[in-house]
Amino acid sequence: MSTYPETFQGYAIDNSTNWNKSKLTSYAPKAFEANDIDIEIECCGVCGSDFHTVKGNWWELRSLVVVGHEIVGKVVKVGPSVTHYKLGDRVGVGAQARSCLNCVRCKRDNEPYCKAAVFTYNSAYPDGYISQGGYASHVRVHEHFVFPLPEGIKSEHAGPLMCGGLTVYSPLKRFLERVRDTNKKYGEEDVTVGIVGIGGLGSMAVQLAKALGYTKVYALSRGDSKKADALKMGADGFITTGEKGWAESHQDTFDFILNCASSISELDLNAFLSTLKFEGTFSSVGLGPANESFSVSAGSFIGNRSSMTSSGLGSRAECIEMLNLVVEKGVIPWVEEVPISETSVNEVLTKCGKGEARYRYCLTNFHEAFQT
Ligand code: NDP
Ligand code: ZN
Repeated sequence: MSTYPETFQGYAIDNSTNWNKSKLTSYAPKAFEANDIDIEIECCGVCGSDFHTVKGNWWELRSLVVVGHEIVGKVVKVGPSVTHYKLGDRVGVGAQARSCLNCVRCKRDNEPYCKAAVFTYNSAYPDGYISQGGYASHVRVHEHFVFPLPEGIKSEHAGPLMCGGLTVYSPLKRFLERVRDTNKKYGEEDVTVGIVGIGGLGSMAVQLAKALGYTKVYALSRGDSKKADALKMGADGFITTGEKGWAESHQDTFDFILNCASSISELDLNAFLSTLKFEGTFSSVGLGPANESFSVSAGSFIGNRSSMTSSGLGSRAECIEMLNLVVEKGVIPWVEEVPISETSVNEVLTKCGKGEARYRYCLTNFHEAFQT
């Protein structure tokens, strides 16, 4: 039985050596502030970052941690300064819980890059409280990082869009518009996009690049087992990067490559750079374990004057824009629904770590599990 509002309940990991042994645990929420909203959670997607976090792949757990940052639920409490929401609204929360909202980055819709950003779990608030995520009965978040969900999206599809979808939408929107404008100046209508790593983020990237109207979207995967699915998602072509010589046969192909792989251990970055057109860009949203580094030689850039860049999450404005596009174009993320329990949390994290998700798990049945 949930004991909200004094305590929340969630499936917590106490130590990264126990990363696949989550336990149903009660914990105190953060102090309630004037702009905060409490959400009773209905479902939550399972992101590759949840796996990296519980494994301690980036840094150690800062406390007992409940992961999950693809949250959908119902507003059950609003602070006195909340203006966007009322009790009962269906809303979503992604990977960010707070920023200063006052710096140059925040004011230009770049909240994920705010120096005072607090992420949805395993991240410290100014008072030292460690944020707790969405494999839980409730979550408490500043309203700026709570997103209104249009009626046309099922909750289990909206969840994965809150982190995975937004994280790929932001660079696709920003970079591709720039390339499209430049190409147009030279009379070229097409923009060729490559999406690397067809997991949760990669699958949504293929779908969102198509929804944005791009007509040459390639899925790049290590093997060929995802080819049929990628084409059904809308990809215009499929490339197996595990095949010898793939890069040689795709020289001067891509304007933009978005790397969505959860590890670069099996990727040859020199090969990816060599497939870019003149001044093409390779951008990585994929975040492998901290002990992995990009290894590229200067010679890989010089032939095409290409660049490497990166991107983190997306802004509130971009999330709202993405949700409108998803409704307008009827985008449906490829989701496997799994009722939440200690066993299922451990199973989905294990499968996600092995790259076995086809393509996004969404944990469901929260009201039964937490008796909310
Ligand atoms: P998934 O596990 O769903 O998918 C990852 C994909 O990466 C796999 O399907 C696989 O694609 C590929 N892959 C797996 N292992 C390797 C390997 N050793 N070498 C090369 N490719 C591999 O993860 P998500 O889509 O949820 O997340 C992807 C990455 O994005 C993670 O690192 C995550 O932490 C990060 N992320 C970053 C964010 C940001 O703001 N930048 C936000 C959210 C997530 P295939 O089989 O097709 O090769
Ligand atoms: Zn995520």
